[in-house]
Amino acid sequence: MKNKFDVVVIGGGIIGCSIAYYLAKEKLNVAVMESQQIGNKATGAAAGMLGAHSECNDLEIFYPFARDSQKTYIQVQEEIKELSGIDIEHRKGGLLKLAYTESEKRSLNEILALPTVKWYRAEDVKKEIPGISPDIIGAAYIEDDVTVLPTSVCHGFSRSAQLFGTSLFEFTTVISIQKNGSSYLINTTKGIFEANYVVVANGVWSSSFFKELGLEHQLTPVKGECLSVYSENISLKHTLFHDHSCIVPRNNGRLVIGATQIVNEWNEKPTLSGVESLIAKAKTMLPAVTDMKLESFWAGLRPQTVDQRPFIGPHPNDENILFATGHYRNGILLAPATAKMIRDFILKKEIRKDWVEAFKINRSCGTSTSVTTC
Ligand SMILES: Cc1cc2nc3c(=O)[nH]c(=O)nc-3n(C[C@H](O)[C@H](O)[C@H](O)COP(=O)(O)OP(=O)(O)OC[C@H]3O[C@@H](n4cnc5c(N)ncnc54)[C@H](O)[C@@H]3O)c2cc1C
Repeated sequence: MKNKFDVVVIGGGIIGCSIAYYLAKEKLNVAVMESQQIGNKATGAAAGMLGAHSECNDLEIFYPFARDSQKTYIQVQEEIKELSGIDIEHRKGGLLKLAYTESEKRSLNEILALPTVKWYRAEDVKKEIPGISPDIIGAAYIEDDVTVLPTSVCHGFSRSAQLFGTSLFEFTTVISIQKNGSSYLINTTKGIFEANYVVVANGVWSSSFFKELGLEHQLTPVKGECLSVYSENISLKHTLFHDHSCIVPRNNGRLVIGATQIVNEWNEKPTLSGVESLIAKAKTMLPAVTDMKLESFWAGLRPQTVDQRPFIGPHPNDENILFATGHYRNGILLAPATAKMIRDFILKKEIRKDWVEAFKINRSCGTSTSVTTC
């Protein structure tokens, strides 16, 4: 078994697998270490929205970074399909961010000022979606906030990376990382590996490596539950979004309803109260969901930082250890842009300075009560 690599990536979720793909394309010799199976944790739980506009709370940093990633998906879809044969279900139709009150409409003003967002009056929405709630006053229509199938993206990246020579180690947990001269020894449940660079990309579980690497940072798990329903009689073209909840149409006629937000919860099992609240919320958007058949339900843990921005960049004292974690609600959306940034750090290419500053691990974060280290 080969045990020496240019880069070892810890974590086989969408972030780790996208990084492996972008590095392997540059002919780097990469290994991904995954405790369980590829894409089975937060990535497998995600609804798959690429919400550069609908999730935007910051036009200065989040929006341009998210837009870059969203646009990169067009190329990713083609490349992955050609290399691996996997269809990531990059599904057109866009998203309707619903408003029920004038104050909700006003809160959309910032994104409505963008050329990529249009206001639809209630009558326009009703024409598009006859079953929509009669209580809406309108919606922001965002054509570019499309969806993908997260597990297919993750498998597409990992399979394509393998075709470029990446080694994938599933059921391999990284226990510790040790400096060994100019390289690192990565101690795992399947033995010791050596690498010139280590990328910590194991989602909410990255916190354990922060401590080991002398950092005080913490990630908070934010549990999210989803369910999937189907019906022969109801079909939906657009994603519906309101107040952090969504109804996402899939290619096979299924709808995914998501997602709850339970802060500081490590348990990954969905609860009855979670499912109940999802159904209640979905009914306020599309009352006819009540008649749909329940297919399945699941949960996952979003990795949240104090300021809700991811950590992307090198360790403050060691540029050969990099972090790509803490993507909270938007890891699917931000995976390609994150992977390109990590590639450019390793290849020492130029990176937008405002992104380096915004995502570096030793930034200061303003909280409601104080300024602290993220
Ligand atoms: C219900 C829900 C809905 C969501 N919807 C969306 C959405 O619509 N759009 C969007 O952009 N984002 C969404 N997200 C957020 C998104 O899923 C996450 O931000 C993203 O999946 C994080 O990816 P990751 O690779 O960092 O983490 P994960 O997918 O959790 O991957 C981390 C991997 O590391 C592995 N690991 C852990 N410790 C070790 C170790 N020591 N050694 C080796 N491997 C290890 C784990 O087994 C896991 O596979 C949603 C999340 C949830 C929970």
